[in-house]
Amino acid sequence: MEVRRRNPKSTAPRGGKDVGSIGASARLQASDALPLPIRHTNLLFSALFAASLVYLMRRWREKIRSSSPLHVVGLAEIFAIFGLIASLIYLLSFFGIAFVQSIVSSSDDEEDFVLSKTAAPTPAPAPAPAPCALLGSPDAAPEKMPVEDEEIVASVVGGKIPSYVLESKLGDCRRAAGIRREALRRITGRGLEGLPLDGFDYGSILGQCCELPVGYVQLPVGIAGPLILDGREYYIPMATTEGCLVASTNRGCKAIGASGGAQSVVMKDGMSRAPAVRLPSARRAAELKAFMEEPANLDTLSVVFNRSSRFARLQGVQCALAGRNLYMRFTCSTGDAMGMNMVSKGVQNVLDYLETDFPDMDVISISGNFCSDKKPAAVNWIEGRGKSVVCEATIKEEVVKKVLKTTVPALVELNVIKNLAGSAVAGALGGFNAHASNIVSAIYIATGQDPAQNVESSQCITMMEAVNDGKDLHISVTMPSIEVGTVGGGTQLASQAACLDLLGVKGANVESPGSNARLLATIVAGGVLAGELSLLSALAAGQLVKSHMKYNRSSKDVTKAAS
Ligand code: ADP
Repeated sequence: MEVRRRNPKSTAPRGGKDVGSIGASARLQASDALPLPIRHTNLLFSALFAASLVYLMRRWREKIRSSSPLHVVGLAEIFAIFGLIASLIYLLSFFGIAFVQSIVSSSDDEEDFVLSKTAAPTPAPAPAPAPCALLGSPDAAPEKMPVEDEEIVASVVGGKIPSYVLESKLGDCRRAAGIRREALRRITGRGLEGLPLDGFDYGSILGQCCELPVGYVQLPVGIAGPLILDGREYYIPMATTEGCLVASTNRGCKAIGASGGAQSVVMKDGMSRAPAVRLPSARRAAELKAFMEEPANLDTLSVVFNRSSRFARLQGVQCALAGRNLYMRFTCSTGDAMGMNMVSKGVQNVLDYLETDFPDMDVISISGNFCSDKKPAAVNWIEGRGKSVVCEATIKEEVVKKVLKTTVPALVELNVIKNLAGSAVAGALGGFNAHASNIVSAIYIATGQDPAQNVESSQCITMMEAVNDGKDLHISVTMPSIEVGTVGGGTQLASQAACLDLLGVKGANVESPGSNARLLATIVAGGVLAGELSLLSALAAGQLVKSHMKYNRSSKDVTKAAS
């Protein structure tokens, strides 16, 4: 593999940035200054070395035989000695320095996440072209790259340039992604043809959403709705690859709309972060717990906590002990942001402040898992995290029959046996629902939320009961931990912002900070309500058909009952 190909253009500036800085970090070789291609230069000096050596050996052998003094040299011998020394210096600098550099750069790579052959895991066997056939071969490039980019690709492949510095060094995020992608292709032998590169604003994710980009994944976005919620219409964007999900949610929205709409209430709005600290003894940890939970201290703690943001407002601190370790669960409102950064900054302020009165406090971690972020935990299910929302609707008897093609008693019975008893049998933690996470994940991805928070955001208990003399169906979803924001993170990206805009909750709500995020949380719950209604109806209808078959009812009756 030729990693030291020289090209005079490689140091030419491009895109207003000095690409020479890349060359510098690629550790320029002395041989780069030569006017010939490196392969020819190597050949020339090797030949010179061999020729000079052979000539001098012959001459010395003749002199020894003829007993002539060795130090008396002719012009030809002087030239040969000069050629020998010059070629020796060249060959040593070429191979010796490259060898040393390879040792130095490989030790750098141990610390850096570098796209290099040595750092990359061994690729799985590829059915298509053998990876070796592609490695380092510019001819294998699917698209023609400018010569200077070829040079950088080779340096990334050779591990001389860490892949992660490309954006900062080139000052051109699209170009950096293209170079990284080509290096990846050469290292792995995989083409990534289906993964688009163009048509994305790589500048918008820099330092915010994704590192080391090589393209973007396309996801279809479907629309369910209108969802009539609290007297307004919403068309819900859902990014998913699960067939039937959008259609089913859409059917649920139709049933809710035909029954006069759903209503929602936000019971709590507070993001939490719980650092873990250790004290010399359990008694001392209990003293700190008492201090933190003393209502008279909340004002002081709030002043300290709130000073790093206009929007973070401390609501309270809940503590738990494990031996001499103390877990302090801070909860605060975060405006329209989901709020993890905000709450973490506030917590750090308080930890710094506590060092004066509790100098023996040892901060183990700013997150001690009592928060609890992106993990199933009872604390979120009981106390809530983010927005705690209940959404309800009363579905009319005829809508249950005509739109959902089932009956109220069948739905109520199914909900008890499946969502309540079945989930209890399974030892569920907030999983008392049919498929809340389907809707939560699809809306989260479409609107730029953190999809990993689907873990606790999908905690939901679905309740169903017959009302109005047993004719109509009352359905509700209670979701204590919907973690959403309309500013920060992925919400500012073009596609995600468009989906937020469709819902009328894009960005910060200037008049009433936090209103956009709370509204989004109610829409998520409304979508879940529609999804639960539709899937449970499908299951209930299926079960009816089966049970009718089992008990030998006529097919006519079965059709009637199920439609
Ligand atoms: P998170 O805390 O969810 O991780 P960020 O760290 O991006 O999100 O914080 C949100 C940023 O947006 C903060 O810098 C905050 O000052 C700013 N901001 C502007 N308007 C609002 C608003 N209405 N609500 C919350 N944050 C806002």
